[in-house]
Amino acid sequence: MSEDIILSTSGLTKEFAGFTAVNGVDLKVRRGSIHALIGPNGAGKTTCFNLLTKFLPLTRGQIVYNGRDISREKPAEIARLGLVRSFQISAVFPQLSVKTNVRVALQRKRGDSFDFWRSERVLSSLDAEALRLVDAVGLSAFAELPAGELSYGRKRALEIATTLALEPEMLLLDEPMAGMGREDIERIEALIRKVSKDRTILMVEHNLSVVAALCDRITVLARGQVLAEGDYATVSKDPRVVEAYIGS
Ligand code: ADP
Repeated sequence: MSEDIILSTSGLTKEFAGFTAVNGVDLKVRRGSIHALIGPNGAGKTTCFNLLTKFLPLTRGQIVYNGRDISREKPAEIARLGLVRSFQISAVFPQLSVKTNVRVALQRKRGDSFDFWRSERVLSSLDAEALRLVDAVGLSAFAELPAGELSYGRKRALEIATTLALEPEMLLLDEPMAGMGREDIERIEALIRKVSKDRTILMVEHNLSVVAALCDRITVLARGQVLAEGDYATVSKDPRVVEAYIGS
C-alpha cells in the first residue's frame, strides 16, 4: 500500500559559506500526521524549516508538496498552496484586541482593497469568523483584550489562530511550547491535537515528553543529517539518538 505523503524532501541541503547546516535530508511527512523534527542544538532543524518555507534558498535538493515541486517557489506562493508556518510572536499587534488581530489575518488572506473592508456588513461577517477562530483556540474570554496583555502561552495560542486564518492544509510550528509553564504546555498540546484533526502538522520541539505524547512520527536530525526516523518508542531507544543527545 502506498503512503499518502503530503510533503517530502530529497537531498535537502543548505551551505552557509562552506559550512553545511543541512546535509542531504530526505524527509517524508504523511498526510494527517503530527510529525516532529527533533535533535540537539545546531542540528539544522530551524534551517530545515527556513528551507521548507523558502525563507532561505536551497543550496541543493528538492521539496515536493502535494505532488508539486516547490523548491523554487516564493514564500508567499508556498503559503498560498497551504503550507504555512506559524507567525512569530512579533507578528501579534499588541495594541489591537485578540479578535482584531485575527480579523487582520483574515483580511490579509482575502487580500481585497481597503474600500471593501469599510463595508459594515463585510466587517461584521469577518468579526464573526474571527470570533470563531478565537473560540477554537480557547481565547473567547479574552477576545476584546489587547493582545499585548495576554500571557505568553495565550499569545502563542493567538499566533496559532492568526495562522489558522490563512486556512493552512499543513502547519509548521517552530517550538510551539518554548518558554512555557506546565499549564500553558497542556493548553497548547490540546490545541495542537484539536487543530491536527483536519490538517498535517510538522513541528520542531525540544520538550521530549510533549513529542512522545503528541507526535506519531519523529525525525531526528544531528549535524544536518537524519539520524533516525520512526515512532517515539523506536527512536528514543536508538543508541545513535541517545548518544547524540548525551553528547550534545
Ligand atoms: P537547530 O535549529 O537544530 O538548533 P539551526 O538550523 O539553527 O539548528 O543551525 C544549524 C547550524 O547552522 C548551526 O551550526 C548554526 O550555527 C548554523 N547556521 C544557522 N544559520 C546560519 C547562518 N545564517 N549563517 C551561518 N551559519 C548558520
